[in-house]
Amino acid sequence: MTTIHIVGGGIAGLTLALTLQRPEWDVIVHEHRRRPEEREVGTAFGLWPPAMTALDQIGIGAAVRDRGVHAATATIRTADDRALIHLPRQDVVMIARTTLHHLLRTALPARAHQRAGRVSDSRLLTGEVIVGADGARSVVRRDHWGRRAAARSPGTTVIRGVIESDLAHGEVTEYWGNGQLFGITPVSAHHTNWFTAFPEQRFESTEHGLRHLRHTSGHFPAQVQDTLAAARPDQTLINGIHISRTLPALVRGRTVLIGDAAHAMTPNAGRGACESILDAVALGTLLNHYPPAEALRRYRWRRLVSPQLIRATSSILMNVALASGRSARTRNSLVRTLTRG
Ligand SMILES: Cc1cc2nc3c(=O)[nH]c(=O)nc-3n(C[C@H](O)[C@H](O)[C@H](O)COP(=O)(O)OP(=O)(O)OC[C@H]3O[C@@H](n4cnc5c(N)ncnc54)[C@H](O)[C@@H]3O)c2cc1C
Repeated sequence: MTTIHIVGGGIAGLTLALTLQRPEWDVIVHEHRRRPEEREVGTAFGLWPPAMTALDQIGIGAAVRDRGVHAATATIRTADDRALIHLPRQDVVMIARTTLHHLLRTALPARAHQRAGRVSDSRLLTGEVIVGADGARSVVRRDHWGRRAAARSPGTTVIRGVIESDLAHGEVTEYWGNGQLFGITPVSAHHTNWFTAFPEQRFESTEHGLRHLRHTSGHFPAQVQDTLAAARPDQTLINGIHISRTLPALVRGRTVLIGDAAHAMTPNAGRGACESILDAVALGTLLNHYPPAEALRRYRWRRLVSPQLIRATSSILMNVALASGRSARTRNSLVRTLTRG
């Protein structure tokens, strides 16, 4: 019997467990939160076509399309509501994180065992393959690559939430202001997803965070003011974010990293979950076809470069979006000049 330990039952871990198909395998998913989605607010993921193709491959693409909504257009605008960049229709499916989690978890085959509890030292796990799918602050990464490989904070705070009305009108809009970005997207027919990022600040509570936003976001258009007016503390989350350092390889012996454990990135490009799904389906497919050592050898390079490029691009875009003062004015003129048709 081959035992595969997956540390982390988030998007990456559950997608991998769903991809693994050999009946003789013992697949154990370790998750320290009883139901990770229950403590979440149903904020949106944008799933790009390659991630949707991967979900089709493991049989849940149709359910995801059915429960999600399509974003008609995506536009980046200045805080005074002038279009900076208009992205053509991308066929991105917007879906609540909680819904995607639920779909993955309920589709798991009986042979994937879910074990509740925190893995505190992944070196003690016995088995043929140990998968670190335990997110940006991965214990597996720390155990096998050392503390110096830990993700770092870029010093950015993200506040995000969902409101119970359709203020997005089917469109993704991101406003780049003065040291702050504010995004509004659809997440279902009757709900709007919103997020904002700015240089790190601490708040006593979500009420405090929302009060601060209502006070400081007056320079954004009415769509932002209306969204903040409708936001409720119990449907709002405040996070710091973490980004990974580049590792020379994502495989060490029988241990492999996927998802945010491998390449945590700033959330503004909306690609972290997509890359997690692509990792999981790529690794699972290799494990379905080759003995574990050969599958890990092939995986070693397959998913090393492109997620790291996306991670680096996201960070650059975040810095551009959060430019302030004269840099923000220069950014706006430059982008307009470069994108003029
Ligand atoms: C504000 C924000 C907005 C985002 N928007 C988008 C978007 O629009 N599109 C997109 O593609 N991505 C987006 N992302 C990124 C996306 O959330 C992540 O890339 C994705 O969740 C990574 O999935 P994961 O399974 O690798 O990690 P996680 O979702 O972090 O899951 C890791 C799991 O491991 C568990 N765990 C951790 N340590 C242990 C342990 N020691 N023992 C047992 N269990 C453990 C955790 O409880 C968790 O359930 C966003 C991120 C943020 C912060």
